[in-house]
Amino acid sequence: MNRGNAVPMVSLRGVGKSFDGHRVLAGVDLDVHAGEVVSLIGPSGSGKTTLLRCMNFLEAYDEGEVRIRGALLGYRLAQGRRERESERIIAEVRAPVAMVFQQFNLWPHMTVLANVMAPLTLAKRMHEARARELAGQALARVGMSGKADALPGQLSGGQQQRVGIARALAVHPEVMLLDEPTSALDPELVDEVLEVIKSLSRDGMTMVMVTHEMSFAADVSDRIVFMEKGRIVALGPPDDMVRRPTHPRLQAFLQPWIRRSLAPAPGGAGLPARSSQP
Ligand code: ADP
Ligand code: MG
Repeated sequence: MNRGNAVPMVSLRGVGKSFDGHRVLAGVDLDVHAGEVVSLIGPSGSGKTTLLRCMNFLEAYDEGEVRIRGALLGYRLAQGRRERESERIIAEVRAPVAMVFQQFNLWPHMTVLANVMAPLTLAKRMHEARARELAGQALARVGMSGKADALPGQLSGGQQQRVGIARALAVHPEVMLLDEPTSALDPELVDEVLEVIKSLSRDGMTMVMVTHEMSFAADVSDRIVFMEKGRIVALGPPDDMVRRPTHPRLQAFLQPWIRRSLAPAPGGAGLPARSSQP
């Protein structure tokens, strides 16, 4: 795709992160353009969550640069040195970015509506009435209007994650980061959440998603990024990455999934094709 000189929505250059001397991200370069869906796959511990958290500075990266629509996130350059930016400016730069968490992270003592309103009234200091309106729209978008007054504990996991998505949507983000949004769910609740994510992608939402749902990733993603040991080792469109992987490490990683996809199933065997469901 020719993107001309368009500034990427998210741009990573040489991004590194160490925990206690252990380098868990080791120089990651990636551009995510407006309207793109990029899925991050890779073994547990490869740095996917850390990379996603660096993209909105929930985790402070310590090498390289993260830019949101061209603006450096988290730091400012002062006399050639890098200093941590003020929280106010960090919040401004990350404002277009919203996150959906694996464990939903809803407040258990607050209603669904209050949970979705919270980022608007607290972080964005929006008036209550306007926040209520935007939260209501976001809940409608994920089909959860009927549960606005429920507490999270009264909902299924799938419904809770739809609320988590509504909370992210309510701030009208330009890019959404999703960290294994369905991996905490019972299998029968996965599809309702994937369907919501798919509908967002159809609407042109820019998304970066960590997932183990390979068929789904192949279906919705423009590009798939395979990470290992804190690095991107392969990257490309789903056809090259998931359906016909050539990279040996990627082939090995996908082997269990390919074996399952090829196994005869009731109603016909599913090749890892565009139409296959997770
Ligand atoms: P993934 O999401 O791919 O499973 P993570 O980004 O969660 O990988 O973790 C990458 C590595 O960084 C792992 O070795 C993990 O133990 C380590 N790690 C992640 N977060 C922290 C932290 N807050 N403190 C120390 N080590 C961490
Ligand atoms: Mg993770």
